[in-house]
Amino acid sequence: MSETTTARESAIRWGISEAAARRILAPLTPIDRDPITGAMRYNQGEADAARANRPGRGSRADLSAEAISTVRFQQLASDDAIPVTHRALWALLWEGGVRVGSALSMDVRDVAIDDHVVVQEYPKLDSDERIVPLSEQTASLLREAVGDRIDGPLIVNENGRPIGRDRAARASRTLANASIHAFRMGGQKARKSLRPPRIMFAALSTDWSGEDPTRTCQCPCAHVHSYRGREVCQGSADAALLVDVTVLSGMTGEVDDRRLRPFCPGCYEALLAQKENRKELKKLRRKLG
Ligand SMILES: [Zn+2]
Ligand SMILES: [Zn+2]
Repeated sequence: MSETTTARESAIRWGISEAAARRILAPLTPIDRDPITGAMRYNQGEADAARANRPGRGSRADLSAEAISTVRFQQLASDDAIPVTHRALWALLWEGGVRVGSALSMDVRDVAIDDHVVVQEYPKLDSDERIVPLSEQTASLLREAVGDRIDGPLIVNENGRPIGRDRAARASRTLANASIHAFRMGGQKARKSLRPPRIMFAALSTDWSGEDPTRTCQCPCAHVHSYRGREVCQGSADAALLVDVTVLSGMTGEVDDRRLRPFCPGCYEALLAQKENRKELKKLRRKLG
């Protein structure tokens, strides 16, 4: 059987919005529906051909949704010539848990930088999480953007005034030469996942060896995929491959630490494969009744 794909999967693979993917897939005849989600499934080869031959290439909808690459994102995030307030905003969007409107309406008090979380009081969708974990990189950009302020809007201009949507979109175009939506898209495309995949496990210690946590893979291998002879991976971390890691205290079972941690490509793929296997297994069990 040939590979099938849904609008949502295509959107992630192509690094565009789901709405744009739907428009591209609209002329095709679906093969069937996913029995679980009800989403229409298309032949992946036909879908990719439709994307390559889409009419109106370079139309506004497509331009505004083109994903930013990981390399480009890392360049921008560490470019000191760009005001940190914009870099902090872009990093939040890249990590997938927060939408632009929500980020711009956040208050300094909604951020617990040392705990690596932001709280969105009014997420746009029910499926958006209220508590959003952050990576070390984003936490430190936010720390810099907040400075010594203890309240007021989180994302502000040089005069301490909140930044509106228009201003944020314009800054993204002029400073990053990209649409503001390209950051969220970029993170999704790099991770092959809307939000960083989540794992949770109990451990007696959360001491991830003495290595630099932004450079060394943060996979607690034995808890994530088949044990490969070493408790913790020593591979290089890929900053784009973030995983939402919750460590529960081995003593009390309560959440000890939750943050986004970068994995190496091997461990990240192993985690996605394991999640996929579990899903398949569940489907199979349901089928067998
Ligand atoms: Zn691993
Ligand atoms: Zn690894």
